[in-house]
Amino acid sequence: MSHDQRGFATRCIHAGQYRDLTVGGVNTPIYASSAFLHDGSADAKVGYPRYHTIPTQTAAAHKIASLENADDGVVTVSGLAAAASALLSVLDAGDRVVMQADVYGGTYHLAVTELRRLGIGVDLVQPGPDGLMVEALLGAVRPETKAVYVETPSNPLLALVDLAGVAQFCRERGLVSIVDNTFATPVNQTPLELGFDLVVHSATKYLNGHSDLCCGAVVGAGERIARVRERVINFGQALPVLDASLLERGLKTLALRMSAHNRNGLAVAEYLESHPRVRRVNYPGLASHRQHALARDQMRGFGGMVSVELDCAPERVGHLMQGLEVFTPAISLGGVESLISSPAVTSHAKLSAEQRAQLGVTDTLLRLSVGVEDLDDLIDDLERALARV
Ligand SMILES: *Cc1c(COP(=O)(O)O)cnc(C)c1O
Repeated sequence: MSHDQRGFATRCIHAGQYRDLTVGGVNTPIYASSAFLHDGSADAKVGYPRYHTIPTQTAAAHKIASLENADDGVVTVSGLAAAASALLSVLDAGDRVVMQADVYGGTYHLAVTELRRLGIGVDLVQPGPDGLMVEALLGAVRPETKAVYVETPSNPLLALVDLAGVAQFCRERGLVSIVDNTFATPVNQTPLELGFDLVVHSATKYLNGHSDLCCGAVVGAGERIARVRERVINFGQALPVLDASLLERGLKTLALRMSAHNRNGLAVAEYLESHPRVRRVNYPGLASHRQHALARDQMRGFGGMVSVELDCAPERVGHLMQGLEVFTPAISLGGVESLISSPAVTSHAKLSAEQRAQLGVTDTLLRLSVGVEDLDDLIDDLERALARV
């Protein structure tokens, strides 16, 4: 399929949009109906929200597909629903999937609990100090392996996966490659162009961008998405129309928001790196990042996610969190507002101290979702709070 050649910001606003000519509004209408006219003929199109056939849903899905240079897409009730339908579109009982060990916690639990329960083998691959490179996958692939699932940049250490390398590895072995592109967004990275088969999003984060919605998306080639859509329909995971409308509205400013996230993210990372109370900053856009060269190769910008290890006693971390006024201590990420969290007591709380240490998630590691506020206010806020540490 030939893709929309218009600029990215133009596609954010116009791609996928559905114009109802009876009223002529400039926005895709919210078709709040669960029953639609049906003429009784066998081939009549069925309008039904769970079937993902309502234009309010397909407009959001087609917009995301266009931004990722994909043929087609589906929108789901959560990012995890997107990951589940993508995985189950490829895997049957007896098959195996190779999965990056430090994927998002929910995805990890989906794999090791539900996929295994369904008789699908899950082989976890631990990324090395230089992120996940192709060599790590070699030992994990078995004859039953059907898919490889990765996430880049990773949470919370912002390590990268060599996307072109993994895609080629999969292609050579007939494996379906799936990547979670939530942190980068298609503004910063388009994995399908690097050879990936399916892209998964927690659209709850940057794609919607306003921390007021839980939703997900899967995009890829038409026949792959047809299989994903079947799972979405059968498991009842399609995004309701009111939410799809909100998502489409959020997407219109994705280009604008991401350029601000990229600018503020880099500036905050640079500021933190120069601060005496900071031991280490993880941000792919910094020259000190171990995979900075790879980041420059496969990313166009480095996003708003930054993690920082403080040089202080763990009990001082709370002082910093309490001293912040612009950054809000909260879980989740990718909204216009700046958030801060402590992975050791949030996303990684279920792990033992040794497991956390092995992963590099220390008690003084903080994860920042840098928002689109004025940079001076963000730096002032951090400066004041760091003085308390
Ligand atoms: C939040 C998140 C998910 C899960 O998405 P939900 O919308 O919470 O279901 C998956 N992957 C990444 C990287 C995430 O940040």
